[in-house]
Amino acid sequence: MMKVRSGALVLLCLVVFSVQLERLCGQHVDDAVCVVDDADAANADVIQVLSNLVKTKYFRTFKVDYLRECPFWESDFQCGIDGGGACHVSECDDAEIPLIFQECKDVPASPWGRVIPEAGVHGWADGDNGVWCDCEGSDAVYIDLLKNPDSFTGYSGQDATRVWMALYNENCFGDTTSIEEQCLENRVFYRLISSFHGITTMSICKDGERLDMFKWRLAMFPDRLKNIYFTYLVLINAATKAQETISAMDMSVGTAEDVKVKEFIDEFYAIDGLAELAGAFNFDDIKSISGLEQEYMHKWQNISRVVDCTGCEKCKIHAKLTLLGIGTGLKILFSDDSTDLSLKHNEVIALFNTIYKYSESVALIHDWLDFLVSQEEETESTQLETDPVIEELGAADGYGPAPDSLVIPVMLGGMMLTGVLIAGLKHAGRRGRGRGEKKSQ
Ligand SMILES: Cc1cc2nc3c(=O)[nH]c(=O)nc-3n(C[C@H](O)[C@H](O)[C@H](O)COP(=O)(O)OP(=O)(O)OC[C@H]3O[C@@H](n4cnc5c(N)ncnc54)[C@H](O)[C@@H]3O)c2cc1C
Repeated sequence: MMKVRSGALVLLCLVVFSVQLERLCGQHVDDAVCVVDDADAANADVIQVLSNLVKTKYFRTFKVDYLRECPFWESDFQCGIDGGGACHVSECDDAEIPLIFQECKDVPASPWGRVIPEAGVHGWADGDNGVWCDCEGSDAVYIDLLKNPDSFTGYSGQDATRVWMALYNENCFGDTTSIEEQCLENRVFYRLISSFHGITTMSICKDGERLDMFKWRLAMFPDRLKNIYFTYLVLINAATKAQETISAMDMSVGTAEDVKVKEFIDEFYAIDGLAELAGAFNFDDIKSISGLEQEYMHKWQNISRVVDCTGCEKCKIHAKLTLLGIGTGLKILFSDDSTDLSLKHNEVIALFNTIYKYSESVALIHDWLDFLVSQEEETESTQLETDPVIEELGAADGYGPAPDSLVIPVMLGGMMLTGVLIAGLKHAGRRGRGRGEKKSQ
């Protein structure tokens, strides 16, 4: 009798765990008119074309100032594994920089050199129009993205969490209700930041060795995954709107590759289903809000300054690349007339590399979710004898839920397991407790 009761409770426990992971098939991307499956289908071509494009000399040369100090708090954190080796950035020497970029070397420094008026994250003066990311400054250097790929660097702990929290807290429009209850412009801005965080996590897990991290930081939160899809759609929309400007740009570095670059760009714009993805989020709803462009731009600039507080140089270059990529997308989408649009080399390079990062993430989300859900289904049908709580929490590299993201099912699972033990020992028991993280945020 007791065995039956224990079995039933363990089964219940398994069910509680299982409901947390779900495939996204058939689901809509929040705030967009797009089913995840359609994005997945077109993404197969996007990833293929862009994987070629981002390997070209033009698109892998990125200009960034990655040594700027944190303007908001003392930050002397040194990252990571291999005595910091994983965070090391390899800069291009002059011979490696294509002439097309060297000619622009004497452009006056951007306004970022200025002292920030107060030690808060806010306080931007007017007049920084058109510059969405504080990336370039006078100390900027060129780096080859192929020699500095995004990867697991070991940067973590309070220092990293502080930067993420500053991005969420300081730029939240002062509205403390749940994201789903907020107005469209707040939701969109939040989705952009959450997706930036999401693809950073994806880049850490990308080699497939940290599937547990993917599971506990992203897969358990479908809204975070869908925010990645959302920003992917926003970026495709921007690239499509700027097609004329981008296609007319001189991207030649003086090698035979120049023809290929043009071909890849044309191939990108000819992808089946791209126009549908581009139209999935109607940016006019955002654009028509009076004063929003300035507000978004200032917040995005603030975010790029907060990223200077990241204690890992390699992480910083990819964070800045992504911020410039999304910032360029927003700049394009807010522009009145795409034919008057003027884009810098670095902006286009960041835009396409960022679309590629999102494209890679979208592909991996699909595959990894599929794998994890199948694994869970298999476990459900074959592992009734094992202790699911201990197995889940002790999986692979030991990665588990963050203290602040212990979800309610974990708590319930713990309580049920406690019930099983209590029944076995015939004692009155204590109940397990955990803190829940709201899934919608
Ligand atoms: C700008 C920046 C760039 C980084 N780049 C790299 C890198 O290239 N390589 C590397 O190895 N490490 C990088 N890191 C560190 C990495 O992002 C994590 O901070 C680190 O791995 C520790 O992870 P964590 O589990 O503590 O959670 P964190 O990722 O630090 O997240 C903190 C909390 O934020 C919430 N959260 C997590 N994801 C989301 C989301 N998508 N949407 C909403 N909320 C979320 C969760 O509640 C979580 O507990 C970077 C950090 C920063 C700040």
